[in-house]
Amino acid sequence: MLTFFNQFPQRISDVTTQLTTHGIPLTAPTTPAPPPDPDAPWANSRPAPPVDRTTLAWCTAAQMLSTHHRTPLSTQVLSADALIRELGVRGLAQLHTDLHDGAPIDYRFTRCPYCSGCGEDPLLPYCAELGCPPQYEFIGHDHICPVCMGADYQPDWFGEERIIELDHLVDAPVLACTARFSRLRQRVRRLTRR
Ligand SMILES: [Zn+2]
Ligand SMILES: [Zn+2]
Repeated sequence: MLTFFNQFPQRISDVTTQLTTHGIPLTAPTTPAPPPDPDAPWANSRPAPPVDRTTLAWCTAAQMLSTHHRTPLSTQVLSADALIRELGVRGLAQLHTDLHDGAPIDYRFTRCPYCSGCGEDPLLPYCAELGCPPQYEFIGHDHICPVCMGADYQPDWFGEERIIELDHLVDAPVLACTARFSRLRQRVRRLTRR
């Protein structure tokens, strides 16, 4: 059955198929530790941890990069590795902003690339995985998408809201003006009747 949530495993299999076709491993190999720097002994000299390229977050990052740069996905593998390694899932929000020249993204108007705009964590995690307080497990609560933070993607509805808001902003001074004008007219009439 085709459901909204089927698209997420589909996204993973689309990406991993491309990687496999290009002979790219599905786990980023650990990079050797950089040689210790005597001038900066506190610098990170541990090897970079491996990155799983079959997670939804990684696949989403690779797709976003390849779509944005209009390059084959296989050329964005190292960028996606670095992003997920450094920032994890939240890195997708950062990436999204970066790809939009640093402009903040309003996920009510822009579809979230991770959850496709549903606002829920697309991995549908269990409470235990997220460490929710035990009493939450039975009362039913949302696990919101960590990228758009559960934004309500409804551009049409919010667009209309915004138009009403703007209309209101335009109307208010017009009404105030009209009221002032009619008061003025009444006063002028009273004065001229004398
Ligand atoms: Zn929970
Ligand atoms: Zn989202």
